[in-house]
Amino acid sequence: MPLFAFECVDCHDHAELLVSGSATALCPSCGSSSLEKQPSAFAPVSGGAMSEPVGCGASSCCMAQGGCAQN
Ligand SMILES: [Zn+2]
Repeated sequence: MPLFAFECVDCHDHAELLVSGSATALCPSCGSSSLEKQPSAFAPVSGGAMSEPVGCGASSCCMAQGGCAQN
């Protein structure tokens, strides 16, 4: 589910809303549809030490040699 942060143009409230497909996001405070999408604060962190290394998916992925050029 895509979760987007918005700032309301009318009341300047901030909200994080799930927006699917062509649905219009509405301000939860004033109901305005004049929302500006903000850069997500939840951008995926790359290179996290907690996650498994992910290669290109090929069975002979070069990740086995220390790094995958396809990724
Ligand atoms: Zn509003």
